[in-house]
Amino acid sequence: MALANENYLKTPEIYCFDDIDKRVNAYRLLHPSARIIKLGVGDVTRPLPAEVVKAMHSALDELSAADTFRGYSPPQGYDFLIEKILKDYRSRAISLSKDSVFISDGAKSDIGNIGHVLGRDNIIAIADPVYPVYENATIMSGRAGTLTDDLKWSNIVYLRCSEETGFIPELPDERVDIIYLCSPNNPTGTSLTKTELKKWVDYALEHHSIIIFDAAYQAFVSRPDVPRSIYEIKGARKVAIEIQSFSKSHGFTGLRCGFSIFPEELMVFSQSGEEVPLIKLWSRRNANYTNGVSYVVQRGAEATYTRKGKAEMKELIAYYQRNTSLIRNQLLAEGYKVYGGVDSPYVWFRTPDGSTSWKFFQTLLYDFQIIATPGVVFGQAGEGYMRFTGFSSYEDTVDALERIKNQF
Ligand SMILES: *Cc1c(COP(=O)(O)O)cnc(C)c1O
Repeated sequence: MALANENYLKTPEIYCFDDIDKRVNAYRLLHPSARIIKLGVGDVTRPLPAEVVKAMHSALDELSAADTFRGYSPPQGYDFLIEKILKDYRSRAISLSKDSVFISDGAKSDIGNIGHVLGRDNIIAIADPVYPVYENATIMSGRAGTLTDDLKWSNIVYLRCSEETGFIPELPDERVDIIYLCSPNNPTGTSLTKTELKKWVDYALEHHSIIIFDAAYQAFVSRPDVPRSIYEIKGARKVAIEIQSFSKSHGFTGLRCGFSIFPEELMVFSQSGEEVPLIKLWSRRNANYTNGVSYVVQRGAEATYTRKGKAEMKELIAYYQRNTSLIRNQLLAEGYKVYGGVDSPYVWFRTPDGSTSWKFFQTLLYDFQIIATPGVVFGQAGEGYMRFTGFSSYEDTVDALERIKNQF
């Protein structure tokens, strides 16, 4: 008799975003001709940069001829891409070794897979509200404990992240082993300054903890005192893994490519108290469980580092940031409590009149045909907040803002 992994039975039946789709579909059935504007999606909408497409076309041509054909990628990724990544870090005064870079099929995979190389009994800390994958990965790996009455998991430490803290997570009072940090943040749009991030690195150094630093939105950073990499902080190599993605910065959400940095200095402990470099375990996992990312996609990712590729990325980010600024500025002008939207494509705001997240979701949908993301789907502390994103088209963003102008 085959047994199920019980931990998988503990996660919520449906991914929280399905709930949004259900409600939108119900509305569509009743109002088939309504023009709905999506201001809630965490997915990009602009096409791939031309430089990326060109590189992928010629990579495909190479694979079509016997003398330039390539089979399996090296497990960590091709040198041509890793070299570009290292050079990009060097240009920001961060020098990393070639071996520390692992090309992946996106940030989400590594966020989930990292649990394979970490002991079962680690105490995990996540912010509340949070990107749901950190919590679900913790539950599915059997590290969450049991669900309590207030919809929190007994073994997860939830970092306070509220209006009082400016939606920046607070250091825990107790000792934790693994900390998921995301800056610039999804869903709150806020970002950690150098001073704030240093507190986390110092905490991790003091407690021999590890930080899993999700930098999926680093390309959106605009304030000079906000680090784009955790390695800008002294001592971070001893305690932090950095997870990166081409998804939001270059439109790779469907193509799939990202990378993670595992510094050689970062140690974990065996039961007998011996230090083990985490990179060793990750290399082993990588060699056994994946054959990497396609050659074509890695060539596409490489092209993002050319001069033209960089210029195209700047244009993409500027496009989304213009939308984000429009949203942020209008909400601010109308007196909303607004967070984020400066170093990220996300604007997080308090619902008017103290309405719940879902109630305001329904109002936006039924009265204005706008889809936003209810803050509560990101955790209990998100109740009473909403998330708008700058990922729609400029025209739709302007239209949506016109619809809700001075309406609340
Ligand atoms: C979108 C997103 C990711 C996923 O990135 P992929 O590379 O597409 O898997 C990771 N982390 C956060 C916080 C995100 O919002």
